[in-house]
Amino acid sequence: MKNRNSRFVVVLAVCLGACGASARAQTGATSAPFWTGINDAASFTRAMDARLAHATATLDTLLAVKAPRTIENTLRPYDDVLLELDAVSSQAQLIQSVHPSESLRQSAEKVSQKAGTFATDLSLNRGVYEALSSLDATKADNETKYYLTRTLRDFRLAGVDKDEPARKRIKALRDELVIIGQDFDRNIRTDLRTVTAKSASELDGLPQDFIARHKPGAGGVITLNIDYPDSLPVFSFAKNEDLRKRMYLEYNNRGYPKNMETLDKMIVRRAELAQLVGFKTWADYITADKMVGTAANASQFIDRIVAASGPKADREFDMLLKRKQQDVSGATGVNGWERAYYAELVRKANYDFDSQSVRPYFAFERVKQGLFDVTSKLFGVTYRPVSVPTWDKSVEAYEMLENGSVIGRFYLDMHPRKDKYNHAAEFPIRSGITGRQVPEASLICNLPGGESGDPGLMTHDDVETFFHEFGHLVHALVSGRHQWIGVSGISTEQDFVEAPSQMLEEWTWDPKTLQTFARHYQTNEPIPTALVTRMRRASEFGKAMTVRQQMVYAKLSLSIYDRDPKGIDTTAIVKDLVNKYTRTPYVEGTHFQTSFGHLDGYSAVYYTYMWSLVIAKDMFSQFDRGDLLAPPVAAKYRTAVLAPGGSKPAATLVADFVGRPFSYTAWEQWLNREEQ
Ligand SMILES: [Zn+2]
Repeated sequence: MKNRNSRFVVVLAVCLGACGASARAQTGATSAPFWTGINDAASFTRAMDARLAHATATLDTLLAVKAPRTIENTLRPYDDVLLELDAVSSQAQLIQSVHPSESLRQSAEKVSQKAGTFATDLSLNRGVYEALSSLDATKADNETKYYLTRTLRDFRLAGVDKDEPARKRIKALRDELVIIGQDFDRNIRTDLRTVTAKSASELDGLPQDFIARHKPGAGGVITLNIDYPDSLPVFSFAKNEDLRKRMYLEYNNRGYPKNMETLDKMIVRRAELAQLVGFKTWADYITADKMVGTAANASQFIDRIVAASGPKADREFDMLLKRKQQDVSGATGVNGWERAYYAELVRKANYDFDSQSVRPYFAFERVKQGLFDVTSKLFGVTYRPVSVPTWDKSVEAYEMLENGSVIGRFYLDMHPRKDKYNHAAEFPIRSGITGRQVPEASLICNLPGGESGDPGLMTHDDVETFFHEFGHLVHALVSGRHQWIGVSGISTEQDFVEAPSQMLEEWTWDPKTLQTFARHYQTNEPIPTALVTRMRRASEFGKAMTVRQQMVYAKLSLSIYDRDPKGIDTTAIVKDLVNKYTRTPYVEGTHFQTSFGHLDGYSAVYYTYMWSLVIAKDMFSQFDRGDLLAPPVAAKYRTAVLAPGGSKPAATLVADFVGRPFSYTAWEQWLNREEQ
């Protein structure tokens, strides 16, 4: 998953000349580690303010040009402004989500607001728009031409060509939406709900290491939180139905009730903004710069996926119900808090697979090394650990090298910590510019491990998450060599962004690849092929139900933004969709939407995950299943799809790699495949 705000905010940072470890605030392009010289809220704010001041000065220079407009005297300074903005907004967003110090997180939120304001002002700056519009790019290279065309379109989507009162209102709305979004995220992050078990016997069925990590406190009571490392095992393994149910209710009420009002306000403000720019709804507006093009196309896409997954989802549900009937004779339905639990039992019974059985082969450190080795081979790069300043002592830093030179730097913040962002995501830090700035990026996860004595045994799902997020990171770094920050890094259409990551997940299902690193943490025995085969077979089960669940999210995201916001009832929409697309009925009293952080960041376009998956399956069909690390295909993929960043339309990148427009065939085969 990815976080990004306005379309004017890409990802980057800057440097000027020799960027050593000086404490002086840096501005301009830089290849120094971004956290250099920052040690408290004041120094962070100072560094970010210096960049914004530099951006303002650069903008003034651009506007003051008297000579005929050229790429060099106009597009270059414009791009240098984006370079500052990219660094500030990316770094502020990262720090507000992960820094252990409350005062730093708060300062970062303020910086984010300033960056948001700056981006909005820029997007509505008629003078800059006119300067860029007057450029003659007929003799420029293709990358520059594409960049300029896209930039002018984005200016128009921002409303730059509207009259003065409209632009003023657009600006006020955008500023307010930054604050609303931050409230929404904060209300989720700081809602630290817990569920208690009266004694260890209530944890029956949960893995031994889980029980060992949750010792009874005063009065023998065991406290669990609702973050993934606690909640997911409870949903899958706890024999105690009441514990699962209580966890489900807390988990699906995170952010409630605070975020009900916050979300309603977000919907209303966005609808107004879209209309000011000339669109009927926010959903129409936000899809205009995507591969999908319109809200109607997005809706049709969701319908197509819902229809394609129906028959298999029904067969899967019937298996769940049958299994439940063994425990509860005469049962006629399966509840939300029973789905993962019975799915696990079906896998055990029908596929002879217990997802716990692979965990000893997936100790965190080994998986990390394995991921490094696999991606090194695929993408022709190497990694080396470096000691540089970071935001927390548990964070590791690495350089990515190609033929001995550093082409990127990244940070791994992989385990849970108090007040830290509680999902898994790649957070950009800055994009690269050829010869001027080395890109940086970070992974923020909440995977097992990280404490001394804990081997960090991961589920396969965790391993997949790790590969997925690392896929974003590789994309962000290997696309870091362009002449413009505006096309560098992951700056493609948002509905393509997940495809490279989703494709990289495939390597976690390949026995040959797994055996290169998945070794038993005690015996060193490689993961048995038969076990991987059983795992793959078991993974086929539940796939269509998951697709349906994803379509609940996708349609929810589209539906709250594709209509008149007056009197909208988000809970009623959730209820309707859950009951329509899934056979586990909506649970009264739950408010999933208040913790669905994507309703801010992705707004109406959560469909993008499935859209990207269709493309990912199509791209993966080009690889040789017998040898997934075969160098020629991987090299072609890196060159055609990853390295171009946002310098061409995503549809072109895919067509360059697969040799035709993308198709649904591979995705449909994947959905309906039953492994023998
Ligand atoms: Zn992702």
